Amino acid sequence: MQSIPRLPLGCFPTPIHDLPSLSEDLGITLKIKRDDLTGLAAGGNKIRKLEYLIADAQSQGCSVLITAGALQSNHVLQTTAAGRKSGMRVIAVMDGAAPQTYSGNLRLSKLLGAELEFFESDRFVEDVRDYMAQRQAQLAQEGEAAYIVPVGGSNALGSQGYVNCVREMAEQYQAAGEAPPDYLVVAGGSGGTFAGIAAGCAHFWPGTKVIGIVITTNYFAQREHMAKLTEEAAAMAGFDQSWTAADIGLDYSYIGPGYGIPSPAGDFAVNTMASREGILLDPTYTGKVLSGLIGQVESGQIAPGSRVLFVHTGGATALLT
Ligand SMILES: *Cc1c(COP(=O)(O)O)cnc(C)c1O
Repeated sequence: MQSIPRLPLGCFPTPIHDLPSLSEDLGITLKIKRDDLTGLAAGGNKIRKLEYLIADAQSQGCSVLITAGALQSNHVLQTTAAGRKSGMRVIAVMDGAAPQTYSGNLRLSKLLGAELEFFESDRFVEDVRDYMAQRQAQLAQEGEAAYIVPVGGSNALGSQGYVNCVREMAEQYQAAGEAPPDYLVVAGGSGGTFAGIAAGCAHFWPGTKVIGIVITTNYFAQREHMAKLTEEAAAMAGFDQSWTAADIGLDYSYIGPGYGIPSPAGDFAVNTMASREGILLDPTYTGKVLSGLIGQVESGQIAPGSRVLFVHTGGATALLT
């Protein structure tokens, strides 16, 4: 594995532990990787990506981060926390009109020191790239070097956070004297997490089947895009491996009514994890991911008795809005 500059920002390694009650309910051996506990602000998976992205920003002499997301974006929240901790200005471009009052993650991003800007577009994810590039050019004229963090922190560099996470997990399993899991189940959103994990598993845990439960219909999550990002992440990590869309283990059956809209199965999964294990998931990402895990156990895609690792990517602040 090549050595790519990383700025330590989070609390790592995050714990892995058993989920005994859910294991019993489902007839599998289920463990959880607690990347909801990454240590900055409300935790979550973007911190691992930002350790690489902010190291890159600083090596380029940038003092400002520009990023974008939905009004309740977990990514914006974590980018603000990580950027401010690193002594940088953070400009956050939010999808939609400025609300009368700020609640949830928007309020927390403001508290952490984000400079919020509101941008309305039907094709936000596509159009915001031009908006961010224009802001970067404006700042350059004012003498400030700004670095654009892509939506979700999902490019090959950001994905290195999850290549490294697989290395971390492999070390944790080894230290505990455990064989690698049969299945690893994780969210597929903007794709950086899945890509890093798929690339990392091919190298460190080649016998583990990676299942990405997709939670959005956005182009990011399409099979071809995910395969390309996985291949780029692996190449950057120095792994000689190629992927085709057919190799990518993505399941699109659990999106429900749409991105950010709760599904009955996802809500059931949030309730089950809370009441059986005392752990908070969220309705947009991790609840739907657990609903996919449960669905795949019920359908037999995950065989009874399998050893399964669920990656908790954070997001529970959404329960409070
Ligand atoms: C962003 C996010 C994801 C998805 O990760 P991607 O790398 O964007 O695919 C999953 N869970 C939570 C809680 C998130 O905030």
